Order: sequence, then structure tokens, then C-alpha cells
Amino acid sequence: MSVKERTYIMVKPEGVQRGLVGEIIKRFETRGFKLIALKLVHATKEHFEKHYADLSTKPFYPGLVKYMASGPVVAMVWEGLDSVKTGRTMLGATNPLASAPGTIRGDYALSLGRNVCHGSDSVESAEKEIKLWFPEGVVQYESSQAAWIFE
Ligand code: UDP
Ligand code: MG
Repeated sequence: MSVKERTYIMVKPEGVQRGLVGEIIKRFETRGFKLIALKLVHATKEHFEKHYADLSTKPFYPGLVKYMASGPVVAMVWEGLDSVKTGRTMLGATNPLASAPGTIRGDYALSLGRNVCHGSDSVESAEKEIKLWFPEGVVQYESSQAAWIFE
């Protein structure tokens, strides 16, 4: 666990269309994570096939890839202590009906295929996803808040 740990968080097409981009960014910002990459992108099916490669044998994979490529998403990298696991906790369960209130999915979603956001499930997947979405690299800068967030 490191204060430099990075996670890939993505607002899905329904999150963009429903105007939830600001809400989702706000939660990561106010929790104390540092934004180190951000873009709005309408990605191709081929790109999502790579992003979701681990799920390629699942029956829902073709529909998932087609849907995710149907509109723009917001791709982000957030850095901070235990960001991968904490990011997943902030997202809630994959099925929004099982997500606790206070989580993003528990507050803004009802169905599995429209659960508003993606978050890396391990440090290894985060590294892969960050390379896939930000081949140009992330942005390095000092956060003036760090000393007020960490002892
Ligand atoms: N998904 C789906 N049907 C399922 C399982 C998952 O449509 O039976 C979708 C859901 O939107 C989920 C995405 O596929 O967010 C990726 O699945 P994963 O198991 O990786 O869940 P996540 O990591 O997003 O919680
Ligand atoms: Mg996943």
C-alpha cells in the first residue's frame, strides 16, 4: 500500500449522459485523492475489447463492449493511499442493487449494465488500464494539500 498508488476510474457513457461526471470527480477529490490524468473520449470497440479482455469469455462481453463504445466516457487516473481498494469501495458492488447507499453505484444506479462507473480491481489491472488509456503518460505535479491529508 503506497501514497503513490494509482487507480483507473472511468465514468461510463450513462454517467456522462446523466450529468454525473462532476459528482464522481468530486467524491475522489474531496476524499483526498490526487487527479493525475483526465480526458473525455469516445473509444472504439477494439479499445474496449482490450480494456475488458479479462471478461472475453463471459456471455455479457459482446454487449458490454458494444455499449461502452456507444458514447463518450471520462477516463481518469487518481493517485493516493490504497487508491485501488478504496476506489472500489467508493464505487460499491458491481450490481448496484447490492451497493450500499453512500457509494457511487448505491447512490446513482439501479442496474448491472448501467452502473455508472468503472474502477480498477487490482494494482496490476490499474497499471495495465492506465497504459491502455493514457499511453501519453500521466501528469506529474506536487499537490499542495498532501501535508493536510497525510500525517
Ligand atoms: N456486467 C454485466 N453483466 C454481468 C456482469 C457485469 O453487464 O453479469 C457489466 C457491469 O456493468 C460491470 C462490467 O460488466 O461493471 C464489468 O464487469 P466486472 O465483473 O469487471 O465488474 P466491475 O469490476 O465493473 O465491478
Ligand atoms: Mg472489473
